[in-house]
Amino acid sequence: MDLQSFLTADTFSRVVDILLVSGIIYTTLILVRGTRAQPMLVGLAIVALVYFVSRELNFVVLNWILSNFLGSVILLIVVLFQDDLRRALTKVGLFSGFSNEFESRSERTVQQIVAAVSTLAEKRTGAILVIQQDVGLGDYTEHAVEIDGVISKQLLISIFHQESPIHDGAVVVKKDRVIAAGAVLPLSFSAELPDDLGTRHRAAVGLSEKTDALVLVVSEETGQISLVRDGKITRDIGALNLSKVLGKFLFAEGLFKNSSNSDKNVSSEAQDKASSKKTDKASQVPKK
Ligand code: ATP
Ligand code: MG
Repeated sequence: MDLQSFLTADTFSRVVDILLVSGIIYTTLILVRGTRAQPMLVGLAIVALVYFVSRELNFVVLNWILSNFLGSVILLIVVLFQDDLRRALTKVGLFSGFSNEFESRSERTVQQIVAAVSTLAEKRTGAILVIQQDVGLGDYTEHAVEIDGVISKQLLISIFHQESPIHDGAVVVKKDRVIAAGAVLPLSFSAELPDDLGTRHRAAVGLSEKTDALVLVVSEETGQISLVRDGKITRDIGALNLSKVLGKFLFAEGLFKNSSNSDKNVSSEAQDKASSKKTDKASQVPKK
């Protein structure tokens, strides 16, 4: 086959078709990784496999049952994952008018997180708070203490209280709920991290190198609040900046994540603070 015939419109559209389908499958797998959708997806794949085998082997009754089941599977997915679907569609600009409920709930979530983290910092109580994004964190919450509670300042402070049996390790929040406590995160071995950072901060950076989660750290030693994402740590961000950055992160969904403008926002906010308060040591450490 010569190049000209290979590049016919037909071949081109097939290649684009395959690329698009691969992209959709890849994105779906990334989105469901570690979430409750993962086992369901595996289950569905098994049902689909049994359906094709039953068709080949001419098992009429089994094939009839499965074809009816698979025919209504889209409806089942919409019902089971309505929250996740609404969020995904809002992200691509659809149904933006229906996102008010999410926004008002998120506003409260930001306030509660900022209030909790500020109090923890004032009291010099060490803490790691992981805010899950698109990448599921099932690998890290699997052996943690499972919690399913609406985020509140009181709940977060109680978990990190030194007397609490689950104060060690990280708390993971997903949307408006605390889903786990006492989670052990992967440590970063980046040589670029300052020597004075211990395992709490290295665990936060480590997770952010592997996932798209946003991690907040309160230092027990200094009472400073650090914001970690994408392998970078912004130290001593301060409650005011934290509120702004988290607000942007939760409301705009994507404005903060993977955006070069927002990168500037985070670092410039930290730098503004550093220049106005000369003793501060706000620093950004690039990913290795
Ligand atoms: P600080 O500034 O608060 O002292 P640090 O970065 O110096 O923090 P350490 O003093 O080593 O870190 O903090 C130890 C605490 O960090 C542990 O008690 C535990 O709660 C938490 N921690 C350590 N490693 C991990 C990990 N892999 N995953 C989650 N939490 C961890
Ligand atoms: Mg320490």
